[in-house]
Amino acid sequence: MEYSLLVEYYKRLEETSLKTEKTSIVSELLAGTAPRDIEVIAQLVMGRAFPLWSEEVVGIASNLMIKAISKADGVKEDEIIAKWKDCGDLGNVAEEFAKKKSQRLLFQKALPVSKVYSNLQRIASLEGRRSQEKKLLLIAELLSLASPVDARFIVRTVLSDLRVGVAEGIMRDAIAKAFFADVYWKATLFQKNGKGKKKRFEKMLSGMKGKTVIAEDKVMDALRSSDGKIIEGFERDNTIIVKDILEIKKTGSFFQKNLGAEYVFVDDADIGNKLKKRIVGAVEEAYEVANDYGIVARLALDAGEMGLSGLKMEVMRPIKVMLAKKVETVDEAFSVVGTPAALEYKYDGFRMQIHKKGGDVRIYTRRLENVTEQFPDVVSYVRDGISAKECIVEGETVGFDAKSGKYMAFQKISRRIRRKYDIKKMADEIPVVVNLFDISYLDGKMLLKMPFLQRRLTLCSIVREIPDKLVVAKQKITDDARLAEEFYAESLSVGNEGVMFKNIEAPYKPGSRVGYMIKLKPIMETLDLVIVGAEWGRGKRSGWLSSFVLACRDEETGSFLTMGKMGTGIKEKQDAGVSFDELTKVLSKHILREKKNAVDVAPFMVVEVAYEEIQKSQNYSSGYALRFPRLIKVREDRGADGADCLSRVEELFGRQRGR
Ligand code: AMP
Repeated sequence: MEYSLLVEYYKRLEETSLKTEKTSIVSELLAGTAPRDIEVIAQLVMGRAFPLWSEEVVGIASNLMIKAISKADGVKEDEIIAKWKDCGDLGNVAEEFAKKKSQRLLFQKALPVSKVYSNLQRIASLEGRRSQEKKLLLIAELLSLASPVDARFIVRTVLSDLRVGVAEGIMRDAIAKAFFADVYWKATLFQKNGKGKKKRFEKMLSGMKGKTVIAEDKVMDALRSSDGKIIEGFERDNTIIVKDILEIKKTGSFFQKNLGAEYVFVDDADIGNKLKKRIVGAVEEAYEVANDYGIVARLALDAGEMGLSGLKMEVMRPIKVMLAKKVETVDEAFSVVGTPAALEYKYDGFRMQIHKKGGDVRIYTRRLENVTEQFPDVVSYVRDGISAKECIVEGETVGFDAKSGKYMAFQKISRRIRRKYDIKKMADEIPVVVNLFDISYLDGKMLLKMPFLQRRLTLCSIVREIPDKLVVAKQKITDDARLAEEFYAESLSVGNEGVMFKNIEAPYKPGSRVGYMIKLKPIMETLDLVIVGAEWGRGKRSGWLSSFVLACRDEETGSFLTMGKMGTGIKEKQDAGVSFDELTKVLSKHILREKKNAVDVAPFMVVEVAYEEIQKSQNYSSGYALRFPRLIKVREDRGADGADCLSRVEELFGRQRGR
């Protein structure tokens, strides 16, 4: 595929904020993509170069991009920076300068998507000396081959700032729409011959002209009796295959567009709904296993429902973790997860997804970053303490001082995550204990659908505990609120954060916050928000970014919605907690746009924020503002996609009003 064709879709996606329209546009793109390109296209349209599980990252900062634009267009860096400050988007800057470079048009050759992608791959693989220079050349090469508007999107893709609003929900629905039949049932099809209704009916059927339809006899009869003429035309223009409902329900391949039919008509609304859900569900489940919409799209295209259900998890390819919901009381927790429930200590550390294949062990954080090198101690505990040949287990790792028998603060252990040198020394200084609490894969078998209690038993059967180093999370199964309160108090008294309540029959749902796992903590509810912008400080704070724009996540589009600015809870001195200086150093490398003293930064830093109240507000894109937001800590363990969603903000707002 030519990159300029993909860009046409990007432009259409930019023009609409409607999720249904975005879904249709992406589905049209996927349906028109050749099988060999589909994996790459699915990633690119989501604004990423590589799938989530992959360790490859493009990781280019704005300053290198400025150099690349300068090289490609023969413009001085100062000029680029000035324009950037003016319009606030390096993509637009690249487009403008490219337009000015007129001779480009004379030599313009087509730029294929595969060329863009192979340069992105090479950029991600470069390391060490002179790698920056080589990266710059690879970007400049793309920019000099690109048309001006292509350049805009290449720059945004490389900076991980595509902003066309396609996140996972839209991709899931688009794959279902692109490769599987649309299901209709009588109520959605069959319209009485009233004036306006008749028009709608006719229009709908004429939109299906020339397609293959699998239909239940009953529906065709009903349609015929509703308007014989329209249906006569419809039957003439389409291939109608009449099938028995049992057959329709049984055979998934009917739904695969390239083999079966574009449309399926059934009589019963209930069955129609179920079939629709089955298609979207198959796409979603495949994604849970593969963690890669590229693979899912390719399999849906190649082999439909059968292909999707045949996908297998693989050791060393991390899956998304299941997420917990919050509640305020023991009763509420029981009502969500059901009784009896499995209660566990909620350890205050960070989550590890541990993959083992023979002696090879890999450790991923909750954001699926590989931190194996930083935890040689954990690698050896896993080799010694877990007997399975191949498995994927999960646990919460906490700094633990065996001498005093006390847990260490989260802030301390989080230093180990980023450490690149003196790792052994650090491991001695901050020893950890891994509290294992789940298993999703064992010796060739996926355990996602196994009920939690059985998974727990399976976990116990492969772990030989190593005291203070590798243990199974402390658990109590009960339906008694008094015993639950006691367990909660006990957990807090030994230094934990709270308790988890788990549904004992629930499957493992990767990436979902479906209420199979509930957290209960005594402290006031905080929000995990993303920093998307800041302002340069004045006076005492000049030279620092000082006021930070906070945003929550729109779960559907993946975009970030602002909800206030935070300047408190951050220290002016280095040694007293998170300082302005530290935040400035990290964030200034990720500035995307700059206008006067305000900057937009790439959304990657998640902060835990306390506040006094959530208020409705016209000033921010979320529609809410936090009153007196205050930094609690930087959530090193989370990426922007782990930040709280708008629905969470709405829920907290609602509860607050109810009080
Ligand atoms: P939060 O980070 O506040 O959303 O709480 C959920 C997190 O608690 C999980 O992602 C885990 O990192 C952590 N956690 C601690 N103990 C447990 C446990 N026993 N089971 C599950 N998660 C736990």
